[in-house]
Amino acid sequence: STSRILLCGGGNAIHVLAAYFGAKPGTHVTILSLYPGEADRLRNAIPSEGIRCVNDLGEDDIVGRPDAVTSSASDVPDDLDLVIFALPSFTHEMYLKALRPHLREGVSIGAMPGEGGFDLCAIHNLGGAFAMRCDLFAFETLPWACRILEYGSKVEVLGTKKDVDVVVSPKLGVSPKAFIDGLQGLIGPLPHLTPADNFLSVTLMNINSVWHPTISWGFYHDLDTNKPFDKPPLFYTGASEETGEKLDKVSNEVLEIKRVLLERYPSLHLDSLTHVREWMTNAYGDDIADTTSIATMLRTNKGYQGLTHPMREVQSDGKTKYLPDFRYRYFSEDIPMGLVVTKGIAELANVATPHMDEVITWCSKMMGKEYLVNGKLRGKDLHETRCPQHYGFTDLDTFLRVNHYLEES
Ligand code: NAD
Repeated sequence: STSRILLCGGGNAIHVLAAYFGAKPGTHVTILSLYPGEADRLRNAIPSEGIRCVNDLGEDDIVGRPDAVTSSASDVPDDLDLVIFALPSFTHEMYLKALRPHLREGVSIGAMPGEGGFDLCAIHNLGGAFAMRCDLFAFETLPWACRILEYGSKVEVLGTKKDVDVVVSPKLGVSPKAFIDGLQGLIGPLPHLTPADNFLSVTLMNINSVWHPTISWGFYHDLDTNKPFDKPPLFYTGASEETGEKLDKVSNEVLEIKRVLLERYPSLHLDSLTHVREWMTNAYGDDIADTTSIATMLRTNKGYQGLTHPMREVQSDGKTKYLPDFRYRYFSEDIPMGLVVTKGIAELANVATPHMDEVITWCSKMMGKEYLVNGKLRGKDLHETRCPQHYGFTDLDTFLRVNHYLEES
């Protein structure tokens, strides 16, 4: 039987997915882009052979053609099996709202990458009863580093990840493993997809939401952020001892949430939620030369060398200089779909988080946003976040039950 797939977006990742999935026999692939003008531009740019994807694995190019490219959710096939969002997470809600009237029960809907609270956003916008009959899933990261070489016709995979965690909240009667095996069949042998615990633990463990805002706070909070730099400052390797200590404290607050949750709900699965120090040791192991402190671990991690703070270029005295880019995803995703979601869960669990609050407050100020007021999630921009409070949750018990976190998977 034909597998009917909808790909949402229109950028680098969609080019790769359209080539891979279009090339598989027995698939019917539609691309939906709600970005004004993008669907027409893309449809007109795709040659008759399809989209060619060159790769870093020394394998033959993969060439596949989407069957349709549309700008309207009402044009998508009514018997879709799989919907994938490969989009910045602030667009997820818009796509879910547009698609909801056109989706059939039992469809699988997921995001790559997912970011915190993807399931909350999906359940809220699809309706709980409908969402329960879907497979909801999220990739912790995009499986490939990729970029378009020729719009509509050629894309390059620069790096294929080896392992990617995928969290699945499967419809009743399906095991996460069986569901992930299906996705693996579509993606090919690499990356190897591994089932993650559950959405709650993935949301709380979101390493980006701790790393990016806290390291940025550590570097900038005593500096004049309007004074341009001669070159982009180093991100991980520029971290001070004070930054390392702050990461430790924020991480301890996350673990305090875990402790309180487990005390009240011993059956919750939060095993993979660990301290950032342990996370780094597991992820990088021997690539870290000096494990004295979190700061030395960041500075001596092979994988982190040379990475810089996100900057935007400015001209000053006829020279190119650099100012911090507070619109980059380290802020625009890792605060509203990251640390603010964790803070929301802390608030429901009555866990005080002064260190997290300090980081969120500073980052929001730099972003020109307001999420926290006097340590509570009451800011005027809360509706742009995926914290439980935005979806109307005010008590922990309801939050855990409605979102099926207490069920065995
Ligand atoms: P991209 O920038 O190429 O594409 C983004 C797409 O999002 C656009 O084509 C458009 O359809 C949509 N979009 C962007 N701004 C929008 C707006 N204001 N309103 C509506 N739609 C909008 O992104 P990508 O490279 O395909 O990556 C997809 C996701 O994966 C992003 O969240 C990105 O941060 C992440 N990611 C990408 C890479 C990579 O190597 N390309 C690596 C890691 C993570």
